[in-house]
Amino acid sequence: MKKADFDLVIIGGGPAGLTAGLYAARARLNVILLEKAIPGGQVIITDWIENYPGFPKGLSGADLVQNITQQTKRFDLNIENNEVISIDCSENIKKVRLSDRTITAYTIIIATGASPRKLGIPGEDRFYGKGVSFCATCDGPFYKDRVVATIGGGNTAVQESLFLTKFARKVYLIHRRDELRATKILQERAFANERIEIVWDSVVTSINGGLTNVENITVKNVKTNNSKELRVDGCFIWVGIHPNTEFLGGCVSLDESGFVIANSNMETSMPGVFVAGDVRNTPLRQIATAVGDAAIAAFSAEHYIENIK
Ligand code: NAP
Repeated sequence: MKKADFDLVIIGGGPAGLTAGLYAARARLNVILLEKAIPGGQVIITDWIENYPGFPKGLSGADLVQNITQQTKRFDLNIENNEVISIDCSENIKKVRLSDRTITAYTIIIATGASPRKLGIPGEDRFYGKGVSFCATCDGPFYKDRVVATIGGGNTAVQESLFLTKFARKVYLIHRRDELRATKILQERAFANERIEIVWDSVVTSINGGLTNVENITVKNVKTNNSKELRVDGCFIWVGIHPNTEFLGGCVSLDESGFVIANSNMETSMPGVFVAGDVRNTPLRQIATAVGDAAIAAFSAEHYIENIK
């Protein structure tokens, strides 16, 4: 058999990718982790994490990522800042095309996570970076004593709305139903927070403003069909996520929403290609589940390599 450059290529440097790297490095696999931006993924923009075991007071997303990265360094994990353009799994030795070269590997772990979904409404793109944001940790401090709208009813929207109340004097949380999707403890905190006003049964149909900033949003009540304008200085959008799978090019099976399908060993439909974390078709997207997936994926990759070698 021809020799590959690496035993394992891990694509993505969030908690799942880093954990897979930690396990693979400790198993003494010849492994490289590729991350196109800075390690951390979505977690790095999470203000505070209080449901990851072992940290009774909670910790910031940035600190958690820094801790895991440091831990991988202890075992000499090779992390490279590079973007994967495509992968070719047509042969036993897989090809991974990067921005500057192509590398080969016996196995791949896909840990590319997911990105915030857009609403596709007028003004969303035009005001991006000028009042429209997907990141409270990045942009929240700009809204000290100002009024913002947040859109969505899931964990992200509610948790980040709570964070925004540290700065904004008022947060309109606009949700399309009459019940939040977020976990109960977050709901309780939102209901108790005087700075949050929930606008139920409503969708934002456009984001409006002048040349450089958002001035108001048009909100439609889906039960009455009545629209009104709400004066806001900024608008944060958290209406779910879409998986980062564009580079896969049909190499593995995806579900109807584009998430990678895997069995309990994290094996995808392509032998030698494994998956972990938010990009996987999974019933629960948490850091705790992502790192669990990753440990299994690295273990499965190790066994696959032993068998083919
Ligand atoms: P999510 O759980 O999918 O929630 C998306 C929210 O946006 C839902 O309330 C949905 O409404 C609403 N929505 C979707 N499309 C919309 C549209 N076109 N217009 C208006 N509203 C729309 O997404 P997420 O909150 O980003 O969370 C992603 C994953 O990360 C989840 O698995 C979540 O549990 C996890 N997460 C966990 C934590 C935590 O544990 N603390 C924190 C952050 C994220 P409906 O409810 O009507 O569908």
